[in-house]
Amino acid sequence: MSFAESKKEILLRIDALKKEDNLDFAAHFMTLCALYAGITLLAHAPKVSALATASAIAFGLIHDYAITSRKKNLYTPDSDSFGDLVRDVHSVCQDLSIAPPPVLVDRTKRYANQTVDGISNPEVILSEPILTDMGPKQIFFICKHEIGHIVTQKNLKTSALMFLRDCSVFTACALAWTSTHLPEKKIYGALTLLTALGTQALLNHYERNNELRSDTFACLPDGDTEGYIDTLHKFYDCPMPRFDRSVASLVDYTKGNKYLVGPKRVWAWIFSDHPTKYERIKNLEP
Ligand SMILES: [Zn+2]
Repeated sequence: MSFAESKKEILLRIDALKKEDNLDFAAHFMTLCALYAGITLLAHAPKVSALATASAIAFGLIHDYAITSRKKNLYTPDSDSFGDLVRDVHSVCQDLSIAPPPVLVDRTKRYANQTVDGISNPEVILSEPILTDMGPKQIFFICKHEIGHIVTQKNLKTSALMFLRDCSVFTACALAWTSTHLPEKKIYGALTLLTALGTQALLNHYERNNELRSDTFACLPDGDTEGYIDTLHKFYDCPMPRFDRSVASLVDYTKGNKYLVGPKRVWAWIFSDHPTKYERIKNLEP
């Protein structure tokens, strides 16, 4: 790869990160700042409070814009090649007594992973690399795993846990900020860090368990665990864009034929929202 090409590649990645993760994070952070400003500063410094609130709203709008532009990159796969898949998805959903979600494809190739978007009207989003690398049966397995997330209401529960995480981190942070004695400030500072790591670990623990639960849905209706295990092998071997951090970093160190031990295990507790490939396979074995 030439210098110009790598530069372009890097810029593309930064762009993707900016649009998704960073804006998401910034919007979240600004909302918390506004909340803090609202609680602690309203009485003393209304101007500061108003500025913080205005920036939070601005970040929220930019964030919404980023999400909307992402939606523009989604398309419905054509019925010629995906008619069977849509029919199969409908029949599984009928068995599970849930409304069949629309199956969409993301053309940006930004998401190596596939996902469920939304809480009240969830959509299954597949990525183009998955469509080119996998066969129809394997794509159906992946859709059924995503349907598992819908049945178990993963998005709703994850959002609730994120809210709990943010509120507790915010409270500890606000205590650290407002306390006037230095030793007390240090204690609350440490509490902020512990709360952030602890609640994040709790969230990831839930998410990893939900992945294992959703894997059992992937084997419906005939309990074809072997077919799904083959799909998992193939999926974990798919090339992942490096900026898909949550998946890529995890896949990098879960590729080897080992369970996570030692520092990697601690890292996984705090930062990984997916189990390793081998934990997933073990979970499916009778
Ligand atoms: Zn999943």
